[in-house]
Amino acid sequence: MKLIFLGPPGAGKGTISDLAVDKLGLPHISTGDLFRAAVKDGTPLGLKVKGIMASGGLVPDELTIALVEERLARKDCAKGWILDGFPRTIPQAEALEKIAGVDTVVNFDVADAIVVDRLSGRRMCRSCGKIYHVKNMPPRKEGVCDVDGGELYIRDDDKEAAIKVRLETYRKQTAPLIDWYGKKGSLLTIDGVGSPTEVLGRFEKAIGR
Ligand SMILES: [Zn+2]
Repeated sequence: MKLIFLGPPGAGKGTISDLAVDKLGLPHISTGDLFRAAVKDGTPLGLKVKGIMASGGLVPDELTIALVEERLARKDCAKGWILDGFPRTIPQAEALEKIAGVDTVVNFDVADAIVVDRLSGRRMCRSCGKIYHVKNMPPRKEGVCDVDGGELYIRDDDKEAAIKVRLETYRKQTAPLIDWYGKKGSLLTIDGVGSPTEVLGRFEKAIGR
């Protein structure tokens, strides 16, 4: 089962992916994680990504696609995968088509006001990267990771001005993929508002599990 999760930042794609990974036994592949892992491992692609990110630039499509292609070729992807945060543009979707077929594109529908509320409350652990939310998923102790005691912080891209920019970018560059995949007949749109359990339930029902 090859799935793409589509939706605005803060639509819960990462959260639902993590839950779905346990249920479906598929790897969750996010480009954010791929970038971080490549930089950490110091691979040739990682060194390029590091340089670009350090100068504040956007990782170009060819590099992102190369990382995704390399990841999809690994053993754990044989039965399928969940791609989260990729493709982000129609050119990326066209490039993906050349690498791998896609069974279903799940579009998580969430209004902008809810996105802003969700993202501005997000906190990330500095050591393990686990995500919390001050209202919806608070840690046991404020500002401290439950798993490893790491410090929780607000990522720069979760600050309010940055959220507005991310939403505009999403509407302009990524949302056209909804129509694009819709015309190919592989799109499923589900209501992304509600608790992770509720949204996971809708997702499972939609894909027939
Ligand atoms: Zn942690």
